[in-house]
Amino acid sequence: MKIGFIGLGNMGAPMARNLIKAQENIVGFDVYPSNVDDIPQNSIKEIASECSIIFTMLPDGEILKKVYSELVPICNKGTILVDCSTVDVDSALHVANESASRGLFAMDAPVSGGVVGAEKGTLTFMVGGDAEAYNKVEHFFGIMGQKSVLCGKSGTGQSAKICNNMILGISMIGVCESFNLAEKLNLSWERLYDVVSTSSGSCWSVNTYCPAPGIGPESPADRDYQPGFAADLMLKDLKLAKAAAASVDAPTALGKHATEIYENFLENGGKGRDFSAILPYLAKRL
Ligand code: NAD
Repeated sequence: MKIGFIGLGNMGAPMARNLIKAQENIVGFDVYPSNVDDIPQNSIKEIASECSIIFTMLPDGEILKKVYSELVPICNKGTILVDCSTVDVDSALHVANESASRGLFAMDAPVSGGVVGAEKGTLTFMVGGDAEAYNKVEHFFGIMGQKSVLCGKSGTGQSAKICNNMILGISMIGVCESFNLAEKLNLSWERLYDVVSTSSGSCWSVNTYCPAPGIGPESPADRDYQPGFAADLMLKDLKLAKAAAASVDAPTALGKHATEIYENFLENGGKGRDFSAILPYLAKRL
């Protein structure tokens, strides 16, 4: 069985390499092929005619729709298309409907775990789509990740991703506000961490990814906030959550506020920084 992989960037290239390491027969495509000459590549046309499962890992919904508009009309019937990009729910539904009308199976399968997870093969896949198609692709999720969850119909993978990241964006800001407040109240970060990490304020943003340098397990804060998970990508996901919430009239006051805070952060030194660098930003040390 031949597997296609379109979009060989920071995430797609290491994911495709893990498939190659597992002896899968891979053919890739990227508009900038020169960066990844260790991955066999061919045209979209060849991928469509040769591959029965085709992964995509692309920057956004507009690019995804453009790639699918080229790909879908020339794929063989029954081909499974798996989009691992983070895109808006509407784009995911659009490409799923377009694919279904041509006798193809499309799944949205965005990931959590970042570049390190892509390299180590420890991603989590959140999948929306047909259960039978999921069963055929689960094996490949197992190579590129440590967990995959079939969340429901098309679009629910993207919904899970933006709901998760809205929690993360809000909680990271809350944690940074508390650490900044503690410092001003002459409470050391070490002692705050000791208390919070085993108390009701504990959460991933404190226990695993503490934004204070030198505190807790190693995190981007210990590498001068080099990402990690870039603030630009957090803002992208918060904007997707905001748009999705508006489309179904769900109240997300804190999600909106988090979006504004990340917008301001990115306009004031946050570009290229990890999303946990909200802490030095609040302390006016950025
Ligand atoms: P990236 O920009 O490094 O990679 C995207 C790749 O797509 C690039 O190599 C680009 O050349 C290629 N591309 C663009 N247009 C194309 C086209 N028309 N045809 C073929 N290839 C095309 O981005 P990334 O960091 O790999 O992220 C990819 C997706 O994963 C995004 O949707 C992002 O939100 C999501 N994501 C990223 C991270 C992360 O930490 N980087 C974490 C989780 C999810």
